[in-house]
Amino acid sequence: MRLNACELEIDLFCSGMRVPDEVSLAGVRGVSRTRAGLGSGLEVVLPTGSRIKDEIWVNVPVVENFAHDSPYRLTGGPAQGYEIVDERFDLHYPVRLPQEPGWYARQTSQGVPMSRVGVLQGTYLGIYVSMVCAFWNYRPALNCRFCTTGQNVGDAEEADKSIADVVETCRAARDESGVTFVHLNGGFQGTKGIEFTLPYVRAIKEEVGLLVGVQLAPERDFSRYDALIDAGIDHISFCLEFFDPAWFGRICPGKARVHGQQLFLDAMAYCAKRMPRGSVSGEIIAGIEPIERTLQGIDVITDLGAFPTVCIFRPTQGADMEAWPSPSYEGMRHVMEYVYDACRRHWLPIGAAPNIEVSLVVNPDDAALLARRDFGFYRYEAFRKVAKTVARPIFARRLRPRPAA
Ligand code: SF4
Repeated sequence: MRLNACELEIDLFCSGMRVPDEVSLAGVRGVSRTRAGLGSGLEVVLPTGSRIKDEIWVNVPVVENFAHDSPYRLTGGPAQGYEIVDERFDLHYPVRLPQEPGWYARQTSQGVPMSRVGVLQGTYLGIYVSMVCAFWNYRPALNCRFCTTGQNVGDAEEADKSIADVVETCRAARDESGVTFVHLNGGFQGTKGIEFTLPYVRAIKEEVGLLVGVQLAPERDFSRYDALIDAGIDHISFCLEFFDPAWFGRICPGKARVHGQQLFLDAMAYCAKRMPRGSVSGEIIAGIEPIERTLQGIDVITDLGAFPTVCIFRPTQGADMEAWPSPSYEGMRHVMEYVYDACRRHWLPIGAAPNIEVSLVVNPDDAALLARRDFGFYRYEAFRKVAKTVARPIFARRLRPRPAA
């Protein structure tokens, strides 16, 4: 059966893809293993053929074990273009493989390769700004079991990223790759996460002018969020990961011991009240805990006025969970349809920000392609269109460099 672009995106996350040796990847974005390791796949752009959105970006697993048995195979090449073949049904999907940007091969003025400072993950720039997440320093380690940050920071990417290097990389990504959004994350840094990240936010806002998103472990002193908001952040996300307390404790022992689920939700609620609608997100992983619990988590996040970012579990190479199975397509399709529906029920203006396509997750607005075409769908799509138009001048203003408060 032929899948639409969002369905194909979901199945590629679940099944991965084989890339035969004879298929040339010359000039395309290389597999980049940085941050939590989820970017360990091949960046692929799927045309949708739909008026809802033109294309969907997906970071397709290619190195993990499950990808070796995938029914999907990449064919073609740089000259004739690429296709993904579904060998079960002999279906061919034309796709685009984005080019590696020239700045990946350049160094900052301090001699640091820019690709070791930040990487493109879809159309945005991702930078892990902090020292390695402190959960990796406990003995025994308290890292989240799906994560590989502790192996990547200092290896695949710089351990210590200076503000000047980050600013230069942001500028190159903006000028040469058309990036509008940079996402700064840093894992758990005790009570110093926000304090450490603030100077980066201020420098990017003042010197480059990108939209800035921040993702850190929650802190108990919520006034620190005021400082981040005053510095001009455009987005903040909280990685709750699992809604089921038992699964949360089992897979995220550090978060369970140090923070507890409620702190994630309280911090999310605090920021959602203080920031414009659609600026706060709650991240969860689908495909490990029972699906009903994931759906409950989506409801709780949207009830708080945040939007859900749902990552399909990837048993990343080197992670404690690398031998776990990847989730089933049917279950993940159901989850993503639910994400869109929850956003619709809460009138969240998903997809309003300019040029932010995240390749590591199914974006909530990708999931519009899954929705039933009824009156509620068309009414919400009309709302999203208006929200996007209204937001355009606001984002244009926020994209200008300006002194941070
Ligand atoms: S908090 Fe968990 S997922 Fe985030 S960097 Fe630390 S170990 Fe990885």
